[in-house]
Amino acid sequence: MDFTDLMFYIIFDLSALFITITLIFNLIAKRSISLKSSKAFLYVLLTFLIFTIINMISILLYRGYFYFNINNLYLVRLFKTLSLFSLTIFTASYLIFFLYKTKIHRKFSHKNLFVSLFFIPTTISFILLTINLFNPIVLKFEIKDDTILNINYIYSRIIYAISLINISIPTVFYFFIKKYFSKKEAIPLFVTPIALIISVIVSLSIKDLSIEVLFLSSSLIFTEILLAIPEDLLDIKTGYFSNTLFSTKLHIHFDQKSSFDVVILKINNIHKVFQIYEYNKANNIIYQTANNLKINLKNYDKDIMPFAIDLGYYAYIVKKGIGEKVSNLILDELKYSLITYRNYKPDISLIVINESDFKDFNNFEEFVYKYKTIITKNNDIKIYHEIKDDKYFDIQINIKDIIDNAILNNEFEMYLQPIYSVKDNRFKSAEALVRLNSKKYGIIPPNFFIPYAEKVGLITKIDDIMFENVAKFVSSNLFDELNLELIEVNFSHKSCGDIKLIERIKNHILKYNVDVSRINIEITESFDIEDKEIANNNVLKLKELGFGISLDDYGTGYSNLIRLINFPVNIIKIDKSLTDEVYKKEIEDILVTTFHLFKDNKQKSVVEGVENISTLTRVIEFGCDYIQGFYFSKPLPLNEFIKFIKSGGGL
Ligand code: C2E
Ligand code: CA
Ligand code: CA
Repeated sequence: MDFTDLMFYIIFDLSALFITITLIFNLIAKRSISLKSSKAFLYVLLTFLIFTIINMISILLYRGYFYFNINNLYLVRLFKTLSLFSLTIFTASYLIFFLYKTKIHRKFSHKNLFVSLFFIPTTISFILLTINLFNPIVLKFEIKDDTILNINYIYSRIIYAISLINISIPTVFYFFIKKYFSKKEAIPLFVTPIALIISVIVSLSIKDLSIEVLFLSSSLIFTEILLAIPEDLLDIKTGYFSNTLFSTKLHIHFDQKSSFDVVILKINNIHKVFQIYEYNKANNIIYQTANNLKINLKNYDKDIMPFAIDLGYYAYIVKKGIGEKVSNLILDELKYSLITYRNYKPDISLIVINESDFKDFNNFEEFVYKYKTIITKNNDIKIYHEIKDDKYFDIQINIKDIIDNAILNNEFEMYLQPIYSVKDNRFKSAEALVRLNSKKYGIIPPNFFIPYAEKVGLITKIDDIMFENVAKFVSSNLFDELNLELIEVNFSHKSCGDIKLIERIKNHILKYNVDVSRINIEITESFDIEDKEIANNNVLKLKELGFGISLDDYGTGYSNLIRLINFPVNIIKIDKSLTDEVYKKEIEDILVTTFHLFKDNKQKSVVEGVENISTLTRVIEFGCDYIQGFYFSKPLPLNEFIKFIKSGGGL
């Protein structure tokens, strides 16, 4: 036999070999093999690689290529037998991969599953083929006219049948569990058995043409691309698994028995990392932090699965019963992690959903909605079953209806928190803060409804209601009696970016004949303003109209002093998170310098969140102008506020 003949016989196997090795490299290069189903697919490829190699050797032997004594058919039989056997193993591992992919294997006990699906068919074929080595009942070769003839087809057909069954089970299953697959993912389930059937028919009918390796390896391309590693499997910002995968994992979970806890981690102020650092550096810090966290948690639960739901929003699937412990570990780890650097304190929320809580959700959508609804305070851990009967949880679940109702029935109320002037030693102003007074739930504080109202755009309506209340109040005789300088009113960045803002404000001014110098508008310097140009324009117009502008939330991570003093605002409000740290030397230095700069720049400062006398004395010492906090008073409803001011506020 010459070289050309040889190439003709093994060209299919060589191509298959090339394809399979490429697929293996691709799988490893994408590093997705840490996922169980992808690991299972790696075994599929490896068994297929073995099958291809053995098949190639058996063809070479069969063609008498490096076999010298053509009368001794023992080796031919051995390799042909092994090749058929490795086909059974390959198809069995394909089946097992499919089971991992769909997580159907959880329905069986592991042992039963492997016995019934792997060992039985492979053992049968193994026995048949071993016997064949000694007594050729499966495959028998005879020599006629110097070529080897293959007789006793029937047994090799049994092997093909077993393989075909292995490979077709997933296809049949598909019709019962369609929801686990997108249409795209279903393609390989059909391509693979069709490839096998066609190639077997071809091999059996066109004598000596063994193309099944090539057909099967081609169908493995489909499987790898579409099933084993969907491109959206990993989140590049963290190296965690993707949100898509989280949803698949939980979808499957809801149809089968659950046996894990879920910990949801949210870093509420993650955007600030991008304000402190330049973009690439910030991304790098987030990646490193997420990765270190994953590694540390793996020491504790080696099977932990981390998912990135969104930027700063992560989920960890952990062994059942350890959710709470893991969330404590996360909190501890993050306190000393990379992101807590340079004056940035992560505002962390953790929610634990225990395995036993899953019965509370009817489906995945409800699960997502509910965990997204849970509000936690800074660095707080909430256990789902402990809060699900909580009034505030109920409020969050129904927030849309509550807000719609409140707008219809005028349920928003203005509360006022007095602001103390250090120089005058009296209360000279106040901040208007919105409260929702619901019939069913009573007074609801803003952090429960403002995030939602901002998301759906209703915040502009709420700000408008509050502005009108303030306009009415400052134009009343009552206001004159109180001898107050001004009232601060909050405008969300959504309101600032609203094209109709100025028109509405002008209407209120006209209606109540407002002296605009009595109103200060509190804005925040926000980075996710959609319409920066409109917002800048609006702020300028508000100034032109005569309003004072206050900058809220100074010190919450993003604090560029130089830019701040160039910012056209009259008042700067120091956030509570900074106030809480006045005992630290470096914060003292920052505040003292900042207050000096403000003074030189004719800007006033308000320190917020002062709760006790020692903080009060310190911030006065540092040189602030105004003080707002529970030490003096909580926000009060109008009538109580009036009493408070008239009585001098207990000074
Ligand atoms: P903010 O503008 O920073 O308002 C100050 C918040 O700190 C108020 O919370 C106030 O009650 C609270 N606070 C004041 N002194 C202390 C203290 O000594 N200790 C503590 N722990 N807290 C103190 P509140 O009223 O719950 O409002 C929360 C946030 O909701 C406000 O933060 C503001 O961002 C938003 N908000 C409130 N009313 C409105 C509104 O009418 N429109 C808009 N857009 N946002 C509003
Ligand atoms: Ca404010
Ligand atoms: Ca504030």
